[in-house]
Amino acid sequence: MTAFDLDAYNEQARNGPCFICSMLAGAPGYEHRVVYDDGVHIAFLDRYPTLPGKVLVAPRTHVEDTVGHFTEDEYLALQRVVHRVATALAATVPTERLYVLSLGSRQGNSHVHWHIAALPPGVPYEQQQFHALMTEGAGVLPHDPERDERLAAVLRSRLRLDHPDRQNHPDHRGA
Ligand SMILES: [Zn+2]
Repeated sequence: MTAFDLDAYNEQARNGPCFICSMLAGAPGYEHRVVYDDGVHIAFLDRYPTLPGKVLVAPRTHVEDTVGHFTEDEYLALQRVVHRVATALAATVPTERLYVLSLGSRQGNSHVHWHIAALPPGVPYEQQQFHALMTEGAGVLPHDPERDERLAAVLRSRLRLDHPDRQNHPDHRGA
């Protein structure tokens, strides 16, 4: 693990443009490895992962209310993507426990998004849960573009609608 520059991150999160909207607009410096995009929702690798393969899922539209913005159907459609991505992640990296949570703040990272992280087997109890997710605690994984591209490629493959793993999915449309 490497130390995380929390001050620089917080400055960007609180005073910079929305990182998700900037990524979607193709703004320089906001590139992420996108693993899923259905036109309404997007999933991409966390740039500062504390666990291998940590993925964020978000609506493409900038909304800030975690549940209130969505109709029940819209929310369930988004959670269907969370389920798909989490299932793909658990099939890709060693996983003892999947973490799924939405955080964010009105003062920074306000565009709602869901964190999906896979806790590997063997992590001591005291280092699980929030401890395993806190960049300011354990630090982040060393920057490794090759690892990230490899993980992204596998996730993209697994999240394709025509992937064999998805043949039995109830809404599979053979696309
Ligand atoms: Zn946004």
